[in-house]
This record gives sequence, C-alpha cells and structure tokens, in this order.
Amino acid sequence: MLLHQSTWIEIEQFLKRSRTIVVPIGSNEQHGPTGLLGTDWMCPQIIAHEAQKSADILIAPTFNIGMAQHHLGFPGTISLRPSTFIAAIGDWARSLAGHGFEKILFLNGHGGNVASIEAAFSELYAEASFAGRSAGFALKLINWWDLEGVGELAHRQFPVGHGSHATPSEIAVTQWAYPDSIKSADYSPQIAPSGPIREAKDFRARFPDGRMGSDPALATPEKGAELVALASRGLVRAVDAFSREPTLR
Ligand SMILES: [Zn+2]
Repeated sequence: MLLHQSTWIEIEQFLKRSRTIVVPIGSNEQHGPTGLLGTDWMCPQIIAHEAQKSADILIAPTFNIGMAQHHLGFPGTISLRPSTFIAAIGDWARSLAGHGFEKILFLNGHGGNVASIEAAFSELYAEASFAGRSAGFALKLINWWDLEGVGELAHRQFPVGHGSHATPSEIAVTQWAYPDSIKSADYSPQIAPSGPIREAKDFRARFPDGRMGSDPALATPEKGAELVALASRGLVRAVDAFSREPTLR
C-alpha cells in the first residue's frame, strides 16, 4: 500500500491493523558517467514499492534529498546540510508518530545519510528522555544493501569492481526498473580509484568522473532483477520482525 496513492480514510483503517510504516530515504546526487542522479532514492523506492505488492505493508513517500555535500561539484546534485536533514527527518517522524505510527522503518539508499539519520533518531529519542516520558514510537534504519542476503548476492554478482559509489549493484537495480534510461560510456580507468570523502572540490579532484572504486559496466537489468527480488522479500521480513517488537512504555 502506497501512502501517496491512499486517502486519509484508508490510512486511518490501516492503523487499525498495523502501526508500522516504511519510509524510503535516499539522495539525489551524481552517480558517475552512467548512473542516474536519482539512483540513491530510486533503489529503496523500487524495493519498497515491489515489497508492498505481495504484503500488507505501508510505504510513505520517498524522502529523496539527503546529505550529499561532497557531490555538489557535479551538476544535478541537490543536498541538504546535515543539520537541515536531521531537522527534516524529525518532522517527518513526528508527523507520522502523531497519527499513531509506532514503528517507523527508514529504508536507506545512501551511505552518506547514515550518520545524519542516526543523529536524527537520537534527537527524537532525546525529546522523550529529557521530558522523562516514553517516546511512544521506535525508529529503525536499514540500508537496502544490508537486507538479508543482499550483500552476499552482490558479492557473487560482482566479485571485483563493486566499489562504494556508483556501484554496479545499485545501477543494476535502476536498470531493471527503468530500462529505457540505461546509459553507456567508456570508463577510464575501468575500475575507479578509492579514497577518503571530504568537501566537494576535493571529491571531484580525487574522483574525476564521480565513481569510487566501481566498474558500473558490470551492471545488467537481469542482475538488478535478482537484487530487487531478494531485497523486497528481505524488507517484508524486516517489517514483520520490527512490527513484532514490543513497544515498552
Ligand atoms: Zn549510490
């Protein structure tokens, strides 16, 4: 069930049978010469939308702008600074918790978001802690590539050249979902360099075409199909396990 294609009456009814919601969250940022700018928000959205076709789970609109300051040297990147991102995640969670959602699972598609999402969770819990009351809700962060079995599958599919940015696994997922948007390029070098992440100017100098350690030419829509199938099943199981956790007050 997709929240944005539902009415408030349908959400009110959903809350009578479940108090859990999934928020796909990512980033709009350069993904090398062939990766789509939306890759990091499209991957969790693709997986979450696929998962809700076979299970009664509710998917929120995708939070599609994240913490991508280091990619701002490349046109098309849109970033929130960490403080803005943390504040916005807080208001999303407060909105949903106010309606009665007790389990909010953020399915993340961008490694650069992790620190800020965790900090946002701590800010939200701190509001309850300093007031000496229960929060009334629990928050969970899962990166889509950490869903059960997905890392092992990606390692089998791409034993070399997976890298850490503009990876063949994430590009394969978008190729499966958007086959009309598959791009090609001559990569030089075939496997991109690796290194630290600092400010945007440093990033572009270190990683001139935007890739980090990856060979996106290894991506195929067929590999993307395998990843989406496994990840969407893993998400359904993760939502079920999170929903079963008792909410202590
Ligand atoms: Zn990415």
